[in-house]
Amino acid sequence: MGTEQHIPRIFIDQPLSVGQTLDLPTDKTHHLIGVLRLRDDAAVTLFNGTEEEFGARLKVMDKRRVVATIVSAESPCRESSLSITLWLGVCKRDAMMAALRRSTELGVSAIQPVLTDFSAVGGKQVSRLAEKWQQVIEGAAEQSGRTRLPVLHAVSDLQTLLARAMGDPAETRYVAHPGGGAFSPPGENCQRCLIAIGPEGGFSTNEIQSMTGTGFTAVSLGPRILRAETAPAVALSLLQYMSGDLSG
Ligand code: SAM
Repeated sequence: MGTEQHIPRIFIDQPLSVGQTLDLPTDKTHHLIGVLRLRDDAAVTLFNGTEEEFGARLKVMDKRRVVATIVSAESPCRESSLSITLWLGVCKRDAMMAALRRSTELGVSAIQPVLTDFSAVGGKQVSRLAEKWQQVIEGAAEQSGRTRLPVLHAVSDLQTLLARAMGDPAETRYVAHPGGGAFSPPGENCQRCLIAIGPEGGFSTNEIQSMTGTGFTAVSLGPRILRAETAPAVALSLLQYMSGDLSG
């Protein structure tokens, strides 16, 4: 049995380079010292959303201050060649957190939370949640070994987004909808696609009509109704499988 020690990965939102010494943010310090109980000279991996990740050693100054010195850099190539944007109907807190976590693990490039006819949460509540959503995405990227962080766009309503999407014909667009057609792979040359998933109550008939009228293909994710947090994981797994991203 291997006894290799797990090296924590930490997202740092600033430029990084070999030889650099930096103070770690308070929330990360608390986790490393208070929860993981790391000590002087412990190894960590830092990444900042580029293709690179950095090996670093810690120096514990006190309980609230930890300094990391970057000693190495590499480009591990764990990102998908297919850029996938997820339009995610805003759903209830736990379902939303689970959907964001799984979508990040599955290599989504960007997440657009969408207010729809049947969204269970209103616009005002949503603006307070964005910070939490960002933390969930960061945590999932740290845990899953991603080097890039999915972009989390500001919440918007479906009609505004559709008006904007009309100007971008280069993208292959799907909307997951029970009873939709077979999910056929995007063409070999496709580099960018978009998948829309509805909230707990699904999309309204009007919304489906607006989307199909804007170049979205309605696709099925199988004969059973999936929960709002399961559907993005299934759709992204299918797209990543078709793009070859899950092959090794
Ligand atoms: N009663 C809702 C309906 O019929 O649309 C169920 C909504 S489901 C809980 C949430 C979202 O997951 C749906 O809007 C859709 O985007 C996606 N979804 C769930 N199961 C699906 C399936 N079998 N095929 C396609 N999309 C599905």
